[in-house]
Amino acid sequence: MFFQQKEGGKMADSDRDPAFALSADFMNFSPRDAASRWLAAPDLQVEVYRHLATYVPRILCQGPHGGSGSREEQREELACQLMLLAPLEWLLLGEEPAAGLALLQENNLSSPLCGHVFKVGEPTYSCRECAADPTCVLCMQCFLVSVHRHHRYRMTTSGGGGFCDCGDTEAWKTGPYCQKHTPADRSREAEEDPVSLLPPDMVARSYSIFSIILKYAVDLLTWDQEDQLPAGLEPPERGDTYYCMLFNDEVHTYEQVIYTLQKAVNCSQKEAVSFATTVDRDGRKSVRFGDRQFCEQAKSIIVRNTSRQSKPLRVQVMHSSVVAHQCFALKALSWLGQIIQYSDGLKRILCQVGLQKGPEGENSSLVDRLMLNDSKMWKGARNIYHQLLMNSLLMDLKFKKIFAIQFAKNYERLQSDYIRDDHDREFSITDLSVQVFTVPSLARMLMVEENLMMTIIRTFVDQLRHRDPQGRFQFDRYTAQQAFKFGRVQSLIGDLKYVLISPPPEWSDQLRLKFLDGFDAFLDLLRCMQGMDPVVRQVGQHIEMEPEWEAAFTLQMKLTHIISMIQEWCCTDERVLIEAYKKCLSALSQCHAGLSDGEQPISLSLAGHCVDTFRYQVSQEKVSIHLPVCRLLAGLHVLLSRTEVASRFPEQLPLGELSPHLLIELPLRCLVLCAQVHAGMWRRNGFSLINQIYYYHNVKCRVEMFDKDVVMLQVGASMMDPNHFLMIVLSRFELFHIFSSVDIRKRYREANKDLAQQNTLIEEMLHLIIMVVGERYLPGVGQVEPLDEVRREILHQLSIRPMAHSELVKALPENGNKETGLERVIDSVALFKKPGVTGRGLYELRPEWSKHFNLYFHHYSRADQSKAEEAQRKLRRQNAEDTGERSQTPLRASPGHHGNLCASPALPPPLPPPLCPLFGSLVNLLQCDVLLAVEGAVLQWAVEPSGGGWTESMLQRVLHLVGMALLEEQQQLENSSGDDDVSFRYSSKIARPGDAPSTSGSVLALLESLQNAPHLEVHKDMITWILKMVGNIKTARERTSSSGSVNVNQSRGPEETLRDKDKAERKRKAEMARLRREKIMAQMSEMQKHFINENKELFQQSMEDLEASTSTAEHSPPSSEVTCASQVCVGPRRMGGAERRQLVTCILCQEEQEVRGLGRAMVLAAFIQRSTVLSKNRSRGFPDPEHHDPLFMHPDLSVGTHTASCGHIMHAACWQRYFEAVTQKEQRRQQRLRGHTSYDVENGEFLCPLCECLSNTVIPLLPHTPSPDHSVEHPSLEAWLSRTSQQVAVLISAHRKLSPGAAQEAEPVVPEGFRVDFVPQNPFSSSVSEMINTFCMSAYKVGLKVNPNEQDPRVPVLSWSTCAYTMQSIERLLMDEKKPLFGSLPCRQDDCLSSLTRFSSACWTSASLRTVHSHFIRLLAVLVPNSQVEDTPCILNMDMFHLLVYSVLSYSSVHSLDQSGRSSVDSAHLHLLHLITVAHLVQILLTFTTDEVCMDQDGEESEEEALTLQLYLSLREHLGSALPEVSSGWQLWRCVKAGILPFLRTAALFFHYLNSSAPPADLLGTGAGQWEALCSYLSLPSNLLLLYQSQRTLLEPLIHRWCCDPGVGQVLQGGGVLVRFPRESNRLINLPEDYSVLINQASSFTCPRSGGDKSRAPTLCLVCGCMLCSQSYCCQTEVDGEDVGACTAHTFTCGAGVGLFLRVRESQVLFVAGKTKGCFYPPPYLDDYGETDQGLKRGNPLHLCSERYRKIERLWRQHGIAEVIGHAQEANQTLVAIDWQHL
Ligand SMILES: [Zn+2]
Ligand SMILES: [Zn+2]
Ligand SMILES: [Zn+2]
Ligand SMILES: [Zn+2]
Ligand SMILES: [Zn+2]
Ligand SMILES: [Zn+2]
Ligand SMILES: [Zn+2]
Repeated sequence: MFFQQKEGGKMADSDRDPAFALSADFMNFSPRDAASRWLAAPDLQVEVYRHLATYVPRILCQGPHGGSGSREEQREELACQLMLLAPLEWLLLGEEPAAGLALLQENNLSSPLCGHVFKVGEPTYSCRECAADPTCVLCMQCFLVSVHRHHRYRMTTSGGGGFCDCGDTEAWKTGPYCQKHTPADRSREAEEDPVSLLPPDMVARSYSIFSIILKYAVDLLTWDQEDQLPAGLEPPERGDTYYCMLFNDEVHTYEQVIYTLQKAVNCSQKEAVSFATTVDRDGRKSVRFGDRQFCEQAKSIIVRNTSRQSKPLRVQVMHSSVVAHQCFALKALSWLGQIIQYSDGLKRILCQVGLQKGPEGENSSLVDRLMLNDSKMWKGARNIYHQLLMNSLLMDLKFKKIFAIQFAKNYERLQSDYIRDDHDREFSITDLSVQVFTVPSLARMLMVEENLMMTIIRTFVDQLRHRDPQGRFQFDRYTAQQAFKFGRVQSLIGDLKYVLISPPPEWSDQLRLKFLDGFDAFLDLLRCMQGMDPVVRQVGQHIEMEPEWEAAFTLQMKLTHIISMIQEWCCTDERVLIEAYKKCLSALSQCHAGLSDGEQPISLSLAGHCVDTFRYQVSQEKVSIHLPVCRLLAGLHVLLSRTEVASRFPEQLPLGELSPHLLIELPLRCLVLCAQVHAGMWRRNGFSLINQIYYYHNVKCRVEMFDKDVVMLQVGASMMDPNHFLMIVLSRFELFHIFSSVDIRKRYREANKDLAQQNTLIEEMLHLIIMVVGERYLPGVGQVEPLDEVRREILHQLSIRPMAHSELVKALPENGNKETGLERVIDSVALFKKPGVTGRGLYELRPEWSKHFNLYFHHYSRADQSKAEEAQRKLRRQNAEDTGERSQTPLRASPGHHGNLCASPALPPPLPPPLCPLFGSLVNLLQCDVLLAVEGAVLQWAVEPSGGGWTESMLQRVLHLVGMALLEEQQQLENSSGDDDVSFRYSSKIARPGDAPSTSGSVLALLESLQNAPHLEVHKDMITWILKMVGNIKTARERTSSSGSVNVNQSRGPEETLRDKDKAERKRKAEMARLRREKIMAQMSEMQKHFINENKELFQQSMEDLEASTSTAEHSPPSSEVTCASQVCVGPRRMGGAERRQLVTCILCQEEQEVRGLGRAMVLAAFIQRSTVLSKNRSRGFPDPEHHDPLFMHPDLSVGTHTASCGHIMHAACWQRYFEAVTQKEQRRQQRLRGHTSYDVENGEFLCPLCECLSNTVIPLLPHTPSPDHSVEHPSLEAWLSRTSQQVAVLISAHRKLSPGAAQEAEPVVPEGFRVDFVPQNPFSSSVSEMINTFCMSAYKVGLKVNPNEQDPRVPVLSWSTCAYTMQSIERLLMDEKKPLFGSLPCRQDDCLSSLTRFSSACWTSASLRTVHSHFIRLLAVLVPNSQVEDTPCILNMDMFHLLVYSVLSYSSVHSLDQSGRSSVDSAHLHLLHLITVAHLVQILLTFTTDEVCMDQDGEESEEEALTLQLYLSLREHLGSALPEVSSGWQLWRCVKAGILPFLRTAALFFHYLNSSAPPADLLGTGAGQWEALCSYLSLPSNLLLLYQSQRTLLEPLIHRWCCDPGVGQVLQGGGVLVRFPRESNRLINLPEDYSVLINQASSFTCPRSGGDKSRAPTLCLVCGCMLCSQSYCCQTEVDGEDVGACTAHTFTCGAGVGLFLRVRESQVLFVAGKTKGCFYPPPYLDDYGETDQGLKRGNPLHLCSERYRKIERLWRQHGIAEVIGHAQEANQTLVAIDWQHL
């Protein structure tokens, strides 16, 4: 601060309190008086301006602010309302504003338009059946009460802006109104002017007020001076107070801005972040307030710092009064927006004011001024006035029209402004086009009156000025700036799409005229594209630089829908169609001018035919894939046929001018290019070309590219002599010479020159002919309906394999409405199979449709084709076998064409639909001489078995063509009345011997000779099918000529023999396949061996080893023991398993080893983690790790430590070696490539060497507990208690003596044989001890989140704790899944619990005896209060199971000092169990609640009930009214029994594993008698109250002292967390059934940090239901010195580092663990097709799948999240690269 002053900078007015200065005015100001003063004034504007000039600078922007919501801001807000807005309201309404507004609203007729403006992320709904276009949406409130709820709807989340279209009759084909907005009868009147409903004086006042305020706001928002104000607004007093205003741009990053600000204005990082966030949101923010120099200084630093790489950040130093007025201008606009909500009349008046022509004439209204200055305003200003436009002009149907006209008039200018602006489109006025142009009537009106279609297209073309010499677009030399512009200009295509989205229901002459004008402009655009990005084949060397191709394809892709829509428009009017056709044709002629110039004319002759053409080779000259003009003409030509215009008005069409040769030329070149690329002739042209070819066929482009090229060939071929057509095709494929002379092929073959290439070309050419004749599913080409086309696409997709709905949608082209037509036909062709808990629902082809399968379907890629072929052959083979087996007699030939052949796996062509008349002559291609010659030639080659150079695909295609021809002939025969009509005589033509050049026999003869050729096995079925067809046709012709009736039948004889032959054949093939399989298997196992040898160290495991090691669990399976009724697990009567030897195998070295205390240590890989899964109190913060005392677990179990294991056993030494190797490898790896692995070596993590399970420690295996010493007498509870109390007293006194300065006290009596100084012998070898230590440290480190410290007395406690917690969590799972307590756990859990328990019982040996003793002393003091022990919790704050485990385990240390030989550990365990059970009973009764209303039981009170009541009454004696009154024991006993069950079950588990005692049979099931079995197993009476009853005198004083603990009273009176029993199991939160409910919730969620802002990534914690603002700067927090996102931060408080979230906008489940690990998981929401929608891209309604949600819940409760993340990251390395901590 000091330095700043020296430099002359000074905080302005820091000594003046603006609030104080104002408050005097505040008190004296009366809005009412001000209003009446103004009303009386001669010039209202002058008066209002004077008021604003005085007060605005005094109220607003009085200095730097402390963020939104601060006190200054609230004060500002208040003053603004009272002193500036309230007078305006008084003036407007003429009365007290609140009353006036209410009256206005009451008199207003409610508008049928909803107009709800969407917030970011709010759900929107569109009806796929009824919406006029996909931009028509409903808000949730409207949707839920609309008819569309039961239709096929789509749900999306709004990007903000835009409004609900409910009530707009043009937006919906049906159901435009929801229930809420259905207009009443009064709406008829509403069509009259709503202004007339207002009092006339108010109308006059509102006109003047609205004009003044709106003009004021417009003046200020468009004001560009920093120091001056408009006339009349100059402030009376003017100080040297300035703001340094920083503006947003889209060039600089957040980080750059934050960094610069810290430097320039000396702010903290936090402030800088807040500035940057505001700048980004509002578009500008003052970053400094002070005198001018002070601000200029900051400005220059910012400019200097940001100008290096790019243009600098925009900064202005503005006078505070200017800022204040601008600030108020925004408030005034918002105010206007609010006021007009009360009355449609006021709304209309505002509209009139806004659109009134200004003094400058045309386009000078206030709204015009705003629009034209849009790109100069900052984001915040734009948002506010856009909002106002939406609330006013766009809500008033009359003014919407006027606004639309102004918008269209300014269109070109607005677009150019936008293209230069760097803000996103959502902040531009141009974005309103969607609101205007999507209203069909408006769009057509604008087209007619403002020539909108032409304007848009012309504007677009004008923006792309970079052309080549021929005038075509040239994208390859684009600079970054031009590329940016190209990106922006594409939004114009979107506008065009809105305009064209629905074809007009009727045409006016004007509309025709303007549409055709637009069409002309569009043809100009297409002409700029025709022939762009030409390619020339590269020979010799590879191209140097991949040419740019994406821009051209982007353009093509964007225009695809437009081109289709224009055709749809043309289709609805004959005159338009004819004119458009003529225009397109003449455009094409212009493109063709000069096409054949300079080309050498040639004459071709083949098979007795001759044609003239010119020489052109695709492989040598320029060729372009972009031919939009040709393709549009092809589309229009098909429409001529479809609408029958061609046959009805032939005289109006220039069909005679068409030169078919020219028409086919360019598309043919393009198709040949593809063929050559496939043949590998263009390899040196690089990926650019490959990509272009890919997109040419891709579903996004093909409709207006590949498909139309095929159509154009069909157009040409239908107008030409088929022979000529084929010769030209042959010539363009550069194959003419192959078929024109006999030996050329031979010579090629001998020279082996490019034979493979040539073969591919022949295949491609044959395929093209198949398509030209066979593709008839386009309405207009063939006689089909549009849906037939969709059905056929689906059929062919499903012929490849069953597919999910989304896969099918992706494979089908969408129309402009984003519809594919899929839903309308899918059920007719496919069956839906529902998904299971994983996977997704699939559609399968209905079997009856497979006969329509066409192997040469034009949209198959080669890969699709071979997959489909394989699948279909398999299917038909199966069907043949099925039918063959089922029916003894061969099938009667069924009518139809394939039914009789279904036994054959041949895939003959399906029957095509008939052609339309215009294309009728296409079929002649099939029987023309040139094609016959080609067929003959290929068949001739195929006769030679080897070295023929022909390919099977080639032959297959020829056979397909032959089949098509025969089908055609058969079809014609069937449809004709007599032989004479049938001109198609393929069958007789192929019987003729071949013409020159082929000297061989006829095609038929060739086929017959090929039928039995051994090398043609695969095609045999097809050839047989063909010959049979020939036979049929022959018979049919004979019959027709004799009888005149058509009956195509099949003789039965040959078929039978055929089947036998087939069977033999199949057998042989199967045998061959088996041999091949065996060979492959052998190869694979060889490879495997090799691999294993190479990686011997790590992969010494084979599958057998895996089984061996997991089977170690068999050494202690509970069920293998002989179970008898009196099984007991605790106390002197317990049965032990100590005599069993435990043999285990090390998974690393394979050595077998016995588990012994003094032997080599064996360990179990394990994963230990903190957990809050059982927590009943998530609000309890995590304890301070340094000072937390973990000895007493609170019953809310708020945090524990869970241990899991995969059950794999290793030598400790082997594991250590392995872990070192992993560590070293990881270090080397980290040096190479930085980043994380799926496991964190530094934290001791590793993957189990056998199963790759995530682990971070090992548990040592220890021997069984020895059997109980039966020689010792079992003391009574009283005797044991008194002896133990003596021991405790001795220990306490011994400890006191050790501590320095302890006062001398009386020596307690030492019980006999108790030796305080005895040092027990460690029963473990050093290696076992070391491993005990290792696990102790892991439990300590993880449990407390501290660094290892072996000296810490808390070490053993944490080990006991993980044992107790793990058991509790497993018991809960078993209970909730209704599984038996014993015998249902998987081996690995069983192993884990048993080793964990035995380890815990031994871990005291690694700590100091004194430590463990003092733990025991404190634990015992909970039960037997001891005045020498302080700080013991009351029994309500103690989890009894933890107390049991800790005291049992720590008792061993005390017992080890007892050398009398007269006591047994087992007795002590039993007494401890009894005592704690009683304590738990008391605990349950104390927390008993009568909330649960239930009927009192009739009849006798049982003994249990009586005793429970007795105990309860005695508790009430101690505590009085703190306990509710209860009259009967029945309810109490029921409650006690339920409450104590989990304790008894976990205790049984604990003693079972501790003492290795077999469980009773009843507990291996879930049947009746569980309670009794459990009690007996625990050596407890099944009437637990007897424990109390039998020792009453001993226990009563204890109970009294428990109850008298002040803690008890405190908790019962609500002074702490009261936990009731049984604790309810935690579940994940309930999710709504309908996903949109969640989206709606999330959309109203605001970021908790940045005052009311919408959160960008609202994320729901599935554990506690908390909504978070994820993935955003605003909500980052520091955790352990690192900034982390809201999710990660939340996991540390809610999940102890592990978290499960639902990312609501993404519909994705997020798992995170620690700071670096995470993965996404499929959400539990599915659409009706059984698929998830991650990213919410498809928008199908989503519903909760509870099975999947339960699966996620189980994962969480089993503590499996970390493991799932580990596996996901291991499988998908890109997940490792995500910064999970920032989410
Ligand atoms: Zn609505
Ligand atoms: Zn509505
Ligand atoms: Zn609907
Ligand atoms: Zn080993
Ligand atoms: Zn494992
Ligand atoms: Zn949570
Ligand atoms: Zn936030």
